[in-house]
Amino acid sequence: MIMQSATRHMIADEAAIANLKASLRGSLILPDDEGYDAARRVYNGMIDKHPGAIARCVDVADVIAAVNFAREHQVTLAIRGGGHNGGGLGTCDGGLVIDLSPMKGTRVDPVARTVRAQGGCTWGDVDHATHAFGLATPSGIISTTGVGGLTLGGGLGHLTRARGLAIDNLLSVDMVLADGRFVTADADQHPDLFWAIRGGGGNFGVVTSFLFNLHPISTVYAGPMLWPIDRAEEVLRWYRDFITQAPDELNGFFAFLTVPPGPPFPEHLHAKKMCGVVWCYTGPLGQAEAVFAPIRRLFGGPALDFVGSLPHPALQGMFDALYPPGDQWYWRADFINELSDEAIARHVEHGARLPSMQSTMHLYPIDGAAGRVGRNDTAWSYRAAKWGEVIVGVDPDPANAERIKDWTIAYWEALHPYSAGGAYVNMMMDEGQERVQAAYRDNYDRLVQIKNKYDPGNLFHVNQNIRPTVS
Ligand SMILES: Cc1cc2nc3c(=O)[nH]c(=O)nc-3n(C[C@H](O)[C@H](O)[C@H](O)COP(=O)(O)OP(=O)(O)OC[C@H]3O[C@@H](n4cnc5c(N)ncnc54)[C@H](O)[C@@H]3O)c2cc1C
Repeated sequence: MIMQSATRHMIADEAAIANLKASLRGSLILPDDEGYDAARRVYNGMIDKHPGAIARCVDVADVIAAVNFAREHQVTLAIRGGGHNGGGLGTCDGGLVIDLSPMKGTRVDPVARTVRAQGGCTWGDVDHATHAFGLATPSGIISTTGVGGLTLGGGLGHLTRARGLAIDNLLSVDMVLADGRFVTADADQHPDLFWAIRGGGGNFGVVTSFLFNLHPISTVYAGPMLWPIDRAEEVLRWYRDFITQAPDELNGFFAFLTVPPGPPFPEHLHAKKMCGVVWCYTGPLGQAEAVFAPIRRLFGGPALDFVGSLPHPALQGMFDALYPPGDQWYWRADFINELSDEAIARHVEHGARLPSMQSTMHLYPIDGAAGRVGRNDTAWSYRAAKWGEVIVGVDPDPANAERIKDWTIAYWEALHPYSAGGAYVNMMMDEGQERVQAAYRDNYDRLVQIKNKYDPGNLFHVNQNIRPTVS
């Protein structure tokens, strides 16, 4: 079998493949195997890669075997957690994919208020486990996203203002390094590595399990509140001033979106472009109505108000059906320090031109608990930014790929001059080394030093890559 990539051209012989297969307790899926096509697919339908082999790892021993194989045979190696990455960084052409999806174990310690989640968990798996104890940890906004990629890149979501990023709640990781060693990284053991993996992505090894801090969050007062798109300028100006002054327990991300043409949405709003805020209030439930009463009086009242009490996992899964796997996705992102009236005018212009039903623009708040962590305390640099902006063109039909891409790029280019410079690595496509450095700013050099120590040969390079300077 020939495994090749742009960077490494190597032939791994049949015997080596047979050895790898024999050393795994999980399966090794090869291009001629039944199920290969399903196994190679990732969430973004725009990504169409053909790995030479997919190692479905069931335990740490499998991961060690796969890492050693890739290093010894100089084969391109990709790590797949939930497979959601926009740029398709959970797979590769020609090389070996370590697919962690069978590793879905969770263990909640309700006394210590922690959850241990294996590297193949999605957030739905974790929320399911922790909600039984009335507990939760910050993640994102869609339950099918992988814990692995989302956490290692930072983790922005409904609980950011109240409890910080996912990495701010990470206590420890177990991981397999490029040389095949298994280590635990936390505040005391390999603290340099623990600093780097909190934002530095999959650059430093394969995380086989994550240990998170949990919070007593069970029922939240949350959901979308929408206004007509022709009120967008005033809504966005109000949102800017309001959310940055709101108490931590009130999170709300701003969105341009299109109302899906079906129940439970009222018929007169079907297929209408709207603007709005998806709220998540984690303060005392008895006070929620009072918190939202003044908001509900704004702009003549919301056109759609789905905000109410619901279990935290229901909020996390609320948009899953709108975003099934296999759609075409094109992403662009930036961090935002301030939203000027001029920037708002540009947003309104481009937001009104959403090119498809699922295309959207989100502004995720980064202040509150996430903003109180120092910019050098973890690898995640933009702690003083007020928002993570993401523009995503999404459509099920590959024939519309260019259209959604053109809209995304035009929108991003119009807003980039108003941005803080860099972007959140988890919401970028393959945008080149300059953009990776811009994401980390003065943390980049320290990341390179740690990369030099733990992965000098850049075995883990299918990611937003921190390039080692030794080899
Ligand atoms: C529908 C959707 C919603 C999203 N919502 C949010 C959101 O609310 N908040 C947010 O912050 N982000 C969000 N994202 C972005 C998301 O964080 C990234 O796409 C992330 O890369 C997904 O992680 P994954 O494990 O699913 O992806 P994968 O494609 O499996 O992996 C992505 C990257 O992470 C690395 N990686 C994954 N697992 C491991 C591991 N165990 N060890 C080492 N490296 C690993 C991979 O090497 C790869 O480089 C969303 C994405 C989608 C598609």
